Amino acid sequence: MEFDDELYNKIKFIILKNSLDYEKARIETVLSKLISSNPNLRTDIKRIIPYLNKEIDKINSLRKEDKIELLKKMDQNYGVSKDKKNIKDGFTLPPLINAENGHVVTRFPPEPNGYPHIGHAKAAIIDEEYARHYNGKFILRFDDTNPLNEQSEYYDVILEDLNWLKIKPDIIKNTSDDITLLHKYGQELIKNNSGYICTCKPETIHKLRSSGIECECRLNSTNSLEKMDKFFNGYFHKNEAIVRFKGDMKNDNTAIRDPTLFRIIDTEHPRLGRKNVIWPTYDFAAPIEDSLDGVTHALRTKEYELRNQLYREILTALNLRIPEVLEFSRLEFEGMPVSKRKIKPLIVNKQIHSWDDPRLPTLKAFKKRGFTPEAIRKFVLSLGLTLSETKPSIEVLESFNRKIIDREAIRLFFVRDPWEITLENSTIKEILLQNHPSLEMGRRIIVVKDSVYISSVDAKNLTKGSEIRLIEFSNIIINEIDREKKELKCKITNNIINKDIPKIQWVSTENSVPYKIVKPHMLFINDDFNPNSLEIITGYAESFVSTLLTDTMVQFIREGFCRIENNNTSIFAHK
Ligand code: ATP
Ligand code: MG
Repeated sequence: MEFDDELYNKIKFIILKNSLDYEKARIETVLSKLISSNPNLRTDIKRIIPYLNKEIDKINSLRKEDKIELLKKMDQNYGVSKDKKNIKDGFTLPPLINAENGHVVTRFPPEPNGYPHIGHAKAAIIDEEYARHYNGKFILRFDDTNPLNEQSEYYDVILEDLNWLKIKPDIIKNTSDDITLLHKYGQELIKNNSGYICTCKPETIHKLRSSGIECECRLNSTNSLEKMDKFFNGYFHKNEAIVRFKGDMKNDNTAIRDPTLFRIIDTEHPRLGRKNVIWPTYDFAAPIEDSLDGVTHALRTKEYELRNQLYREILTALNLRIPEVLEFSRLEFEGMPVSKRKIKPLIVNKQIHSWDDPRLPTLKAFKKRGFTPEAIRKFVLSLGLTLSETKPSIEVLESFNRKIIDREAIRLFFVRDPWEITLENSTIKEILLQNHPSLEMGRRIIVVKDSVYISSVDAKNLTKGSEIRLIEFSNIIINEIDREKKELKCKITNNIINKDIPKIQWVSTENSVPYKIVKPHMLFINDDFNPNSLEIITGYAESFVSTLLTDTMVQFIREGFCRIENNNTSIFAHK
């Protein structure tokens, strides 16, 4: 096939770029990029594909360095200058293909069917970052076309949590706002002979789809306008009829095998009430909404990859603009699944208390533990736009958070399962403790009369005559141990600080309060709920802790960073 030089170079450029971004270029991506920049090629797709396939094979087989070399020849700015520019303005994500400053529109399309989690934060942050970087627009669109799943509460929580993440959409809308428009496009598709009403039984549809056989409704679909009118006018009931896309029933990609575009769901909708029962599927609504909303770059998680072809075919059939579609990997942590399919039953069965249970990866749970929105943003951006499905370690997020909260967390003492130490030679003392080891954050006074508590883990190992240091207080020598009563008798020795002896935290019996730390562990081990996933650590903390306000971050020495929940409880964040 003949191309002019410019087009030839453009194709080569797209393939090279795609194969560098994702190791191997893929025909779907290359084709969509090509067509969105040269829409008049659409009519020529059949003739171009074999040529593209040949070029893709050729370029995929090159070494990475050779690809970069070729790209640099075509675009002198490739690599160097862009990277430099990105570092300069603190933007670290890879450039978007065909992005024009001032004209990029991205969107985050959550379904209001649960509380947002760390994966949603990733999607929303990346979308917003791109829009800001290119001086474009960022849309928050509630993809609310399945009233079986959606609830008013979830719209509110999504707004709240995005606000917490300091994400500010330029436009907020609901897909359900456009229900009339979506019906209109559904009808247009049927009129174009790209869709049809199917009245087969759900089991039949399922069976024929898996065996790749077209049903009667499709075969006799040319005159289905009458059926269409009936469908959209509410003649049918649930499961009696659906609208299907005329795809390819033999395609290896089963997403193309005449998927459902509209179904009847006779359930109250949080926004439209009972006004509508004919609901588009995500497969139909998403491309149309993206296209009509002016979205230039639609980013979605990798599991949608097989649906990209359908996304484009629907828009092509309706003669609507096709946005760039890009993928990134799903984010979740080991033992902390994000899937609502896994989380909802735990709540229903009361295995966890609520959506903000600290074991969950929801944003509310992270907030409750004292993770900061800044740490989440830094963490997400540090991952970049990878496609690899490996789960990052939660320790990476923790270390971003630690850097932030370490600056403000007051250091405090807490002892687990306390043993009492009587200080035989003590006189009343006021001990001045620093609130932070390096920053000037004030001091607090601890009154010690003649006894303190230490943790059982430390006490158990002590033997008569051994010496320990009570941090910031004094060295003591053990005189007597009563393991049954959990009591020790000790003597304060001369204050030699730097001896090589155990240094342990303590609280004064005069100045302490019963306290608990709620500590989450892995929610799932392999695929099973971990019944020991929530540890409640009880003990005594310095009474100063009860004066701190909810949300204050503290570091309990040798336990870790925690967020104050109320005056006798805090929630563990991380070490
Ligand atoms: P689930 O129901 O498992 O929580 P979902 O994909 O159905 O996930 P949506 O509310 O439909 O959730 O997703 C909204 C957007 O967030 C989509 O663009 C989706 O790709 C993205 N997203 C959802 N989960 C993740 C994740 N774990 N990592 C990254 N992005 C995600
Ligand atoms: Mg979804």
